[in-house]
Amino acid sequence: MSLLRAVAGEIFSAYRQGILSIQSRPLCVTSYRAASKKTSPEPAASKEEEQPDQAEQQSGKEAQIDPKDRSRVIPVETSIRYLLSEAYQQTYQGEPVWKNYRRNHKGIYPPRKTRKTCIRRGKISTGNPCPICRDEYLVLDHRNLNLIKQFISGQTGKALSYQITGLCQKRHLELLVAVERALDHGMITFDVPFRQYDYSEYYSTLQK
Ligand SMILES: [Zn+2]
Repeated sequence: MSLLRAVAGEIFSAYRQGILSIQSRPLCVTSYRAASKKTSPEPAASKEEEQPDQAEQQSGKEAQIDPKDRSRVIPVETSIRYLLSEAYQQTYQGEPVWKNYRRNHKGIYPPRKTRKTCIRRGKISTGNPCPICRDEYLVLDHRNLNLIKQFISGQTGKALSYQITGLCQKRHLELLVAVERALDHGMITFDVPFRQYDYSEYYSTLQK
């Protein structure tokens, strides 16, 4: 019995430690960071007291790769290259970036307006950020035509509503500015469909 008890006690303690280690891990840690932590748990624990500078550096690195951090400014050129890359294709599978986004809301009808902004103080402040805010490499600019064209209606040639795309109000305003600028620069053109009128129907003096 005593042997059984000892074994059971060991298993229970290991289980508790596992639970405790899971609880101590912050939710925002990505799988990559969790894996890197798992590879070297003991040396980090032993050197924690000896080298506080390293711990600070590690925390600095963690802040850099925080998935909710949006304080970095991504240049438009990077965004344009991203939209042509393999990673972008794999992520969006050739669909518009807003296509597979769904708004979270109470009840069956969504609120008329989307939220004011998804990013507050350089960080994503919501669990369901809009299609532009969630991907930091999507930059709305009049030069980024591959992105802007996804938000332009094929019927009217104008920017799609935020009720369709789900963009937050801040990003929607940026989109409108980008579309207007692209039109001013002549980078987007919209041709009005040609219609032929029979003017004799309107003016009796005109003969066919
Ligand atoms: Zn947003």
